[in-house]
Amino acid sequence: MLTISPIPAFNDNYIWHLESGGEHWVVDPGDARPVIDALAEEPLSGILVTHHHLDHTGGIAGLKARYDCPVYGPGSIEGVTEPLANGDRCEILGCPLRVMDVPGHTLDHLALLLEEEGANGSPQLHLFCGDTLFAAGCGRLFEGTPAQMFSSLSKLSALPPETRVYCAHEYTLANLRFAEAAEPGNAAVQNRIAESKALRDENRPTLPSTIGEELATNPFLRCHIPAVARRAANHDANGGALEDIDEVEVFARLRRWKDNF
Ligand SMILES: [Zn+2]
Repeated sequence: MLTISPIPAFNDNYIWHLESGGEHWVVDPGDARPVIDALAEEPLSGILVTHHHLDHTGGIAGLKARYDCPVYGPGSIEGVTEPLANGDRCEILGCPLRVMDVPGHTLDHLALLLEEEGANGSPQLHLFCGDTLFAAGCGRLFEGTPAQMFSSLSKLSALPPETRVYCAHEYTLANLRFAEAAEPGNAAVQNRIAESKALRDENRPTLPSTIGEELATNPFLRCHIPAVARRAANHDANGGALEDIDEVEVFARLRRWKDNF
C-alpha cells in the first residue's frame, strides 16, 4: 500500500513523501531538515528530483550524507547518482516509474509518473511534475520558450484524467484568481475556488489534484477554448488579431499576463 503525503518546506513548497512497506522516498527535497524530522528514526531509501532549482535540490547533499541513498533525476544536477532522461523506465517502491522530459520552466525539467497497481486491476497513476504543471496554473518560463512549455503541458494533459497531480508548491488560490480573470464564465473555476478556500482555511493542502480537474479549470490547459483565447488576445492587444494567433500564442499571452497579474 503506497501512501503519499506532503512535507511542507519554506513558505509554500511541498516535498512529497512516498512510503510503502516501511520504505521511504522523497521528491524534490529543497531542504533536508523537514525530511529528517518527518522520517523520525526511519531511513530514507531514495530521492527523486524534477529540476535544478535550489528549492527542489538544496536538501540533497544533507540527505545523501545522512542516509547514503540513491538520487534519481536530471544528470546535470550535482548529487544525482541515477541520471534520468525522457522515456526511461525504472522501478521504485515496487511500482514502475516512467520519465518524461517537460522543458519550459527549466530546460532540464522532468516529470515522473509512478504507476501504482490498483485494487481492481486498473492502475492509479501519480504524476510528480515539479514546477511545470501547477494546480490551476503552470511554472514561469525561466529557461524555455512558450512552444516548449505548451508542448510539455500538452503531454501531461494527455494523461488519463484520473491521474493524480503532485506539484511542488501551494499556489492554488493565487492561480485560481488568475483562472477566474482568464475565464470568468467557468463555473468549475468558481467551485474550485470555494473548495480550495475551505481547505486552506483549515490549513490543509489543496493537492494532489487530478488531470481531469486541471483540464476543467486550468487556463494554461484551455488555450483551445475560444473564451480563453479571446481574453488572452484582448489582454495583449498589440500582439496581433485573434484570427492570427494559434494555441501556442494564446499560451504565450496567458503566461505573460499571469507574470504581471
Ligand atoms: Zn523551479
